[in-house]
Amino acid sequence: MTARRVAAAGERRVEDGAEQSEGPASKKRVALKVDCDTLEGTLEGVPRLLEIFAARGIRATFYFTLGPDRSGVAVRRVFTQRGFLAKMIRSRAPSLYGWKTMLYGTLLPAPMIGARAAEVLRAAARAGHDTGVHGWDHVGWHDRLRSMPREEIAREYGAAHAEYLRIFGVPARSSAAPGWAADARSLEVESERSLLHTSDTRGGAPFFPRGEERTLPTLEIPTTLPTLDETLAWPSLLGDAAQRAHYRGAVRGTEVHTVHTEVEGRSKAALFEGILDDWRADGVGFPTLADLAREALEHRERIPARTVAWTRLPGRAGEVATGWLEAAA
Ligand SMILES: [Zn+2]
Repeated sequence: MTARRVAAAGERRVEDGAEQSEGPASKKRVALKVDCDTLEGTLEGVPRLLEIFAARGIRATFYFTLGPDRSGVAVRRVFTQRGFLAKMIRSRAPSLYGWKTMLYGTLLPAPMIGARAAEVLRAAARAGHDTGVHGWDHVGWHDRLRSMPREEIAREYGAAHAEYLRIFGVPARSSAAPGWAADARSLEVESERSLLHTSDTRGGAPFFPRGEERTLPTLEIPTTLPTLDETLAWPSLLGDAAQRAHYRGAVRGTEVHTVHTEVEGRSKAALFEGILDDWRADGVGFPTLADLAREALEHRERIPARTVAWTRLPGRAGEVATGWLEAAA
């Protein structure tokens, strides 16, 4: 299975005709979802991305990790997981993420991101972007979700949402699971909040996830495009020109593209600006995820219920959640 085939799942109904002849889907659109995973990435990458978006009049949706930055724990995998080492070398992770980030939670104590970066977070909202919750402990979440008792899942989300409320003064309206690690239990826990939507999964059209016992009421909007930190590791896409051509050709209708402050907001900012400018030259529009959610919920009866499962994507270590697994089989 490939990321492209998973990503295509939501478009099956329109794929043969390439694009729908009318309605919003006939226009090329990219909702930009900005995941902030680390303290350094948040402090340096968010201001940089705010400049990049302001210069182009683009609104995005920022998701903030709010608890401890234990990124250094991920470094340990270099010594324990062969695939991770290959990815580190191919993607030059230390230059992408910064050495300090790679030691947090191991040789350096884990700093609390919300407490240290609150002003930067508020600046994103002041600049007119949507904001939401990207979990509490990013590393702990995507490493351990499957073995977490339900109470711990609730504690993780509870801590993140409480910190968001403290920083912004209003509850978060949406949430994006760290590392696209989600299952029926975590989606069920999130659906107990009155969120407009979640964005926890990879590939396909928006759907209502099936929980353990019922279909959940919170709309899930998947990320449809592969991410730059994945495609940088694809042997078929060497160099910025190949990356830009890939992203330019990847937008077929309405897409959701996740970027990382650690990557597009730092060492790959120039490449990201090139990708955005190619899209703008092609007339691509940039709705927010909330725009897509409201649009989809106008026709609630058309939104399918889907079961969430785990899958692997090229260029990404570990598994991610998808609601469109059978399209990849
Ligand atoms: Zn993340």
